[in-house]
Amino acid sequence: MSGGPERMILSIHVQGLDGMCVGCRVWWSRLTPYPCWQVDWATSRQARASVARFLEGVR
Ligand SMILES: [Zn+2]
Repeated sequence: MSGGPERMILSIHVQGLDGMCVGCRVWWSRLTPYPCWQVDWATSRQARASVARFLEGVR
């Protein structure tokens, strides 16, 4: 299981030159300081997935 919505979100929601999220502006014409909540969500999902992989490897 690789990719998924987290990868897509992280590739679009990047920090712009003005410090705002590019993805939020493109998708919703909304100015959101980076990191926006979608980046938070995606990174926490990825962190959980890697912890799960680690625990499975130990067992
Ligand atoms: Zn965003």
